[in-house]
Amino acid sequence: MSHECVTGRICAESADSRAGITDNCLVNADNEPILSYLTDMDGVLVSEEHLVPGADEFLAELRANETPFLVLTNNSIRTPRDLQARLRKTGLDIPEEAIWTSALATASFLDDQRPNGTAYVVGESGLTTALHEIGYVLTDSDPDYVVLGETRTYSFEAITTAIRLVERGARFIATNPDATGPSREGVLPATGSVAALITRATGREPYYVGKPNPLMMRSALRRLGAHSQSTVMIGDRMDTDVISGLEAGMRTILVTSGISTRASVEQYPYRPTSVIDSVADLVGRTGKPFD
Ligand SMILES: [Mg+2]
Repeated sequence: MSHECVTGRICAESADSRAGITDNCLVNADNEPILSYLTDMDGVLVSEEHLVPGADEFLAELRANETPFLVLTNNSIRTPRDLQARLRKTGLDIPEEAIWTSALATASFLDDQRPNGTAYVVGESGLTTALHEIGYVLTDSDPDYVVLGETRTYSFEAITTAIRLVERGARFIATNPDATGPSREGVLPATGSVAALITRATGREPYYVGKPNPLMMRSALRRLGAHSQSTVMIGDRMDTDVISGLEAGMRTILVTSGISTRASVEQYPYRPTSVIDSVADLVGRTGKPFD
């Protein structure tokens, strides 16, 4: 189906435009599609608990120009509201609605796959809230899914329950494949490591929804009502942000303020559209980041 958008062009109609969330074919005064941004959080906007210098100005420019954007994180521990509060402490004012976590992406995936289903969850409020909000019932009695997310308080009992439910046929989903996460004291075991434990016991691999699965990007685009062709993905990792942005059909920007370095780019069989030091380099040119 197509429709005539406000600019008079005939455009493909999407579920989001029908729902009135946004018009996918809005163009600017130069008749070019308005750019949207997806940006990774850690290593791009914040580093541990600190602001990446210039990230506040970058986001301020997006908001001043009404450029649609979402901030992405593979971490499923916190709800967008909790993340918003943490980000505010570092000096970043990001609306709750502009935060997209792997927990939200997982909930959105399950809502598509099996609406109003049931799940046994090993995870924190970021994940349980997301699943409740899409109408899921959380139970350990014959659930459709075992859903594993990030947590700092894994219990042997909960893992045992998860293993038994997977053995009995519950489908195994995990929010993100990261094996470790950062902390001030050193690495922390993350979702991927605990998933490996359940896999070892059951012989079953989980389906991972978060990056590098491009599904995380596609659900973010849908949330934004944006098209991949007019969206730029910014990230600090070649092996998650850049690859998933690329596979979802977006142009990508690698920032070297986080994990991947300029030298490491050449080791991969794919490249980002551009490499910059940090998002500070985009201030003043967010409308035309590749010029
Ligand atoms: Mg990152």
